[in-house]
Amino acid sequence: MLKVGITGGIGSGKTTICKVFEILGIPVFYADEIAKEIMNTDKNLRLKIKKAFGDQSYLGNEQLNRKYIADLVFADKTELEKLNRLVHPAVFHAFDDWLITHQNAPYVLKEAALLYESQSYKMCNYSILVKSPLEIKIKRLVQRDHITADDIKLRMDKQFTDEQKEKLADFVLVNDEKQLLIPQVLDLHQHFLSIKLF
Ligand code: ATP
Repeated sequence: MLKVGITGGIGSGKTTICKVFEILGIPVFYADEIAKEIMNTDKNLRLKIKKAFGDQSYLGNEQLNRKYIADLVFADKTELEKLNRLVHPAVFHAFDDWLITHQNAPYVLKEAALLYESQSYKMCNYSILVKSPLEIKIKRLVQRDHITADDIKLRMDKQFTDEQKEKLADFVLVNDEKQLLIPQVLDLHQHFLSIKLF
C-alpha cells in the first residue's frame, strides 16, 4: 500500500487539498482529527494523559478538558512535547488499523500538521508539502477562525518553517491563489497511480 503524507503550515490549505484527493477517490486519514477523537475514546490514552497532567485533564463525561490542556501546552514547550509523546504513538496505531480497511485503494493520504515534527513522514513512502505565502495564510485564518495575526504567529512558532519542511518533502503543492491548484493535484495523482510498490 502506497502511503503519502501531506502537510503544510496552518492555513496553507492542506485540508482543502485533501478534499480534492477524496473527490478523486483517495482515502485520507486526518491525523489531527483522529488525535482529538482518540484523546476522548481511547481509554489507555486517557489514563496516560490523566497521569501526566492530572485528573482535571478530563471533564466529568470523560471528554478532554481542552481549555486546561491547551493553556498548559501553549505556555510550555516541554508540556507540549510530553503530550505529543503520548498522543503520537496512539495515532500511529490508529493509522495502522485504518490502513487495514483501505487495502483496495490505489494509494492513501495521511494529513498531519506535524508530519515532519512527529517523524511520522518516515512511515510514509512519500510526502507532500503544501506551501502558501505567509500573508495569505494569515488572511485565511483570520477569516476562518476569527483570531489575530499575533495568535497565528504564536501557533506558527510551534511548527517547522516551510524551508525546514521543504528539505524533507518529496513534492510541493503551491497554494498561493495565483498558480492553479487542481492541475497540480491531478499531476500528483497521476504520478502516484503510476507507482507500483513491490
Ligand atoms: P489548519 O492546519 O489551520 O487546519 P489547513 O492547512 O488545513 O489549515 P485549510 O483549512 O484547508 O488549511 O484552509 C484554510 C482556509 O483557507 C479555509 O477556510 C479554506 O477554505 C481557505 N483556502 C484554502 N485554500 C484556498 C484557496 N486556494 N483559495 C481560497 N481559499 C482557500
